[in-house]
Amino acid sequence: MFTLSSPHNHTPYCDGKSTAEDMVLSAIRHGFVSMGFSSHAKQDFDTFYAMDEAGEAAYIKEIKQLQTQYADRLRIWLGMERDSYSYADCAPFEYVMGAVHYLPLPDGKMFPVDGPMDMVTSAIKDHFGGDSLLYANTYYGRLGSYIREYKPDIIAHFDLLMKNNRQGELFDPEDPLFIKAATDAMDEAALGCKLLEINTGGMARHGAPIPYPAPGLLAYWRQIGGQVIVAADCHQAAQIAYGYEEAARLIRAAGFKKAAILGRHKALFEWIDVV
Ligand SMILES: [Zn+2]
Ligand SMILES: [Zn+2]
Repeated sequence: MFTLSSPHNHTPYCDGKSTAEDMVLSAIRHGFVSMGFSSHAKQDFDTFYAMDEAGEAAYIKEIKQLQTQYADRLRIWLGMERDSYSYADCAPFEYVMGAVHYLPLPDGKMFPVDGPMDMVTSAIKDHFGGDSLLYANTYYGRLGSYIREYKPDIIAHFDLLMKNNRQGELFDPEDPLFIKAATDAMDEAALGCKLLEINTGGMARHGAPIPYPAPGLLAYWRQIGGQVIVAADCHQAAQIAYGYEEAARLIRAAGFKKAAILGRHKALFEWIDVV
């Protein structure tokens, strides 16, 4: 296994279950050299999952305090996971993970692509004319344009919509039109950010067999010059390195020789060998 680090960790400031300090202690126990916190950024809908104004201020204060308290044991970074419909300003943060979790519906509501399956199937039926390919195109179109325009430091869980398609319930992942939607989004996203997260969160929390993104997309990302960073999208301290062995195996299988980790010193990223 390679040097351990993670940029993607949640706490009760959003939808995480473990305190920030418990996450730090877990990272130290697992031998991490660095870690970052990535609370869900402020948004004006589904507020349970994200920080509010007061929560953001308290979050920043606590993470800065932990940075000082644990400075001799672990390099801690202050980040946020910013949805494409968040209104949060990135200025107070040291890095941003860009993500699409939601699509807007004609009735003005926001629909989470990683929500319950019945919600997703209803939305496809009612708002995408039952056309799951149109749904996938809409998701990937939004993701590609958001990453190109916003230019986050890391792209989070690229094919999140696969959460509800483990058994091909919504679409055939081998369908050339579906693959084209995803790879077109990768081409566009790469203009704004070259660093893609290998996200094992679905393995830890939903029993997914592999991380995001699927191996075919990972291979495409390498072909177009993309880079990778591993994270467990951790919501419980004990799972901070969940699935890292499998992530490392898939990175090697896709032909990557190096991966990023959060830096141990001043630079946001360092590069480690994965061979
Ligand atoms: Zn996310
Ligand atoms: Zn997350």
